[in-house]
Formats: sequence, structure tokens, C-alpha cells
Amino acid sequence: MLGRLLEAWQRHREARALRDRAIPETLWQLTLARYPFIARRSAADLAELRRLCSLFLAEKEFHGVGGFEVTDEVALAVAAQACLPVLRLGLAAYAGFVGIVMHADEVLAQREVMDEDGVVHRYEEQLAGEAMEGGPLMLAWGPMQAGVDPTQGLDSIYNVVIHEFAHVLDMADGAADGVPLLPGLAARERWLAVLEDEWAWFCEQVDAGYTTLIDPYGAEALEEFFAVAVEAFFVAPAELRLEQPPLYTLLAEFFRQDPAQD
Ligand SMILES: [Zn+2]
Repeated sequence: MLGRLLEAWQRHREARALRDRAIPETLWQLTLARYPFIARRSAADLAELRRLCSLFLAEKEFHGVGGFEVTDEVALAVAAQACLPVLRLGLAAYAGFVGIVMHADEVLAQREVMDEDGVVHRYEEQLAGEAMEGGPLMLAWGPMQAGVDPTQGLDSIYNVVIHEFAHVLDMADGAADGVPLLPGLAARERWLAVLEDEWAWFCEQVDAGYTTLIDPYGAEALEEFFAVAVEAFFVAPAELRLEQPPLYTLLAEFFRQDPAQD
């Protein structure tokens, strides 16, 4: 009984969000024009994405920092890219946080690491985005303009929104380790077997100085490799399928999408 009540309440909330947060056609078209990798998806995918965007915008709270104004255009640019990975998984995958903090440009963060001898090293890091467990998620609008169209010369893919939301999916099982929430230990082991193989090959390419489709930043750690691989999967799927087929298949199974087909 309670389950049915809850369902009805959720349906009601959804209907209200879809009505209140309906995305105007001109704004939607502007967003598609900005992100060719979204625009080329099927009509059915785009309809579902637009629906998810309305729900996402109703659920999340945007905060502009330092005078940065989060316009409808900015919020939809985030929503559309964030919702693409969860097109089949649903927005529950992002239920762990509400706030999205936005800066005009990269943020200088003060970092501290302790080395093996217990010596603390302080350094500064330029951040285009950051995902933390429980949120909020931080994004910078400036870096969001970079590298949106892979057809403009095939450099490595760069997409900060998909990158940070990939970290959110990675952390769903409680650890940022390159392994998202999977059904059971066997699935986790199989995942790691493929991902670590693909990572090893990728690191060899980076070390040899070759240009890789996946951002060479992925050589830093397995969890970063997962995040940059997800960027490539959505922004340049056909190219990723050519360059690292087992990785493409692994991600296609997880996201229940085959974007190279479209
Ligand atoms: Zn990262």
C-alpha cells in the first residue's frame, strides 16, 4: 500500500516537474546545436533526454559563485550533458546530491598531500570541475566551452561535465575507484579485468607519446581513466569503438547504450 502511494506521489511530482520545467524549443535547439554528439542521437533518445533534463532541473539546485549567473542556457547545457549517461539508468543514479556550484572559470584549489615519510606537500591545482560524495558538484563554465566538437580535428576528447558526472556514477558504490555500482562481486571482477587491461594499453600509448582519443590525464589513476573514457564514449563513440573496442563494449553494457550505432 505504502509502495503504491509512494509511486503515485512520485508520478505526481514528475508530472509537475515536466510541466513546470518544460524546456522551450528554442533553448533545446540551441543546446543541440552546441553539442553535436547529443544532436546526432535518435529522435527517441532525444525525447527521453529532454524529459530527463526537465526532471534534473527540477531536482538540482544551481548556485553561481563570484557573480556568475546560471542562466537557463547554462543550466540546460549542464543538464543535457549530465543526463546523457543516465539515459537508460535513470536519474536515481544522481540522487546522492542536490547542489551544483558553478564558477565562470577554473578555480585555484589549495591541496595537501602527505608522502610516505609523513611530509605534507602543499600545491595548487586548477579545477574545471569537481565531484564529491554527497555533493555539491562543482563546474566551471569557461572549460565547458572547450572541445565540444570532436570533428574539429581529432585531438583527445575533453568534456568536463560528463567527466564529473562519471565520477558521481563511480562513487555510487562508496568508492572512487573506477568501478561503478555493479551487481555483485563477479561483475566487479570482470569489470576490473577489462578496465585494467584497457588502462594498461592506454598508458603505454601515452608513455610512448602517441595522441590518444581518450584524454591522457587518464594515465594518472584508474578512476580518472574511467572518467575520461566515459567522456570519449559519449562524445566520440565511433572513434572509441575503433581505438579501444573492449572498453567500448564494457561501457556500452554498463550504460545500456550503443552511441556508435547512431
Ligand atoms: Zn577526474
